Amino acid sequence: MMRMPAFVTSALGAAMMMATPALALDVTLGGRMEQAGLVTGTAPPGSKIAFAGHAVPVTVDGKFLLGIDRDAPAKVDLVITGPDGTRDVRHLTVAKRDWKIDRVDGVPQQLVTPDPELAAKIALENGYWAVARKKLELTPFFETGFIRPAEGRISGVFGGQRILNGSPRAPHTGLDIAAPTGTPVHAAADGVVSMEKEMLIMTGDTVMLNHGYGLQTFYIHMSKLYVTEGQKVKQGDIIGEIGMTGRATGPHLHFGATWFDQRLDPETVLAVLPVAQTNAEIPIQLFANGTVSIGGKTVANAMVAAELQRLASRTPKPALTIAGVEAGTNVAATAGIITEAKKLGLAIDTGPDPEAH
Ligand SMILES: [Zn+2]
Repeated sequence: MMRMPAFVTSALGAAMMMATPALALDVTLGGRMEQAGLVTGTAPPGSKIAFAGHAVPVTVDGKFLLGIDRDAPAKVDLVITGPDGTRDVRHLTVAKRDWKIDRVDGVPQQLVTPDPELAAKIALENGYWAVARKKLELTPFFETGFIRPAEGRISGVFGGQRILNGSPRAPHTGLDIAAPTGTPVHAAADGVVSMEKEMLIMTGDTVMLNHGYGLQTFYIHMSKLYVTEGQKVKQGDIIGEIGMTGRATGPHLHFGATWFDQRLDPETVLAVLPVAQTNAEIPIQLFANGTVSIGGKTVANAMVAAELQRLASRTPKPALTIAGVEAGTNVAATAGIITEAKKLGLAIDTGPDPEAH
């Protein structure tokens, strides 16, 4: 390996300093700089970033995320130290949001003003959340973008000041999607399960997914859970079913998002990190040995329906095309995929009429 003599590197360093007298680093910021907002950014790879009391992880290609708490002050500092040691402090202005007042009645009084024994259990459960939120994940799963995790009526939005049975309580931390018990709940993005707990007092059957770089989503009040801690999930995978476990007055999914300990509006996360829009049709190829390739990925026969369901959960739904059928492939297999795709509302180009072959 060739080493540069020390005097050459320092001379180069001095030249660079002279070339950039303002000491500003090449930093870009996008997303929403507002309370409960999510900001996306890029900085020179190898930069160190500090924000809201956190050492902000930066991807190898210089991407990072910043979460702004619901109650963030109007001014926050972003401190970036470039790979050459240049320190750049940005004074950011956080737009204020108005939160609505949310009155919820009919909550069991025991859960609004818990007795000491219950309060101790809730404190223990809060500890699980704190541990899960701190988990650092350095795979940029968030790059898949985010989808709404369940179909249903929006019955509650993020941030409202809650008045439970007449007493003011902590603000609402998620988006409520009301649907019948048993409605599937999908992973909003690729990720790894950072918490899976059954029957927590406040949140019932609970899953938290880590999407990397501080960003996590959580799914609570479910009736069934299909994932375990440490498991990797793909966007659209069914992780559980809607229910009303924990402190809930009817079946719904409470979908939440955090960036470390900062509480984010999940609707903002969906808006800032949408699934990449692509007009390209996803090719499907069938082979005589019974395997199927969907979008270039080999899918076992038994998993084809699940894969189609995953694609159907995207917004907007992608279009599919039968790009190839190897001679000798079971005719029923092609028909089965077409039927299944149509059932899921996926447009599918079936290619030339099979009769014509
Ligand atoms: Zn809720």
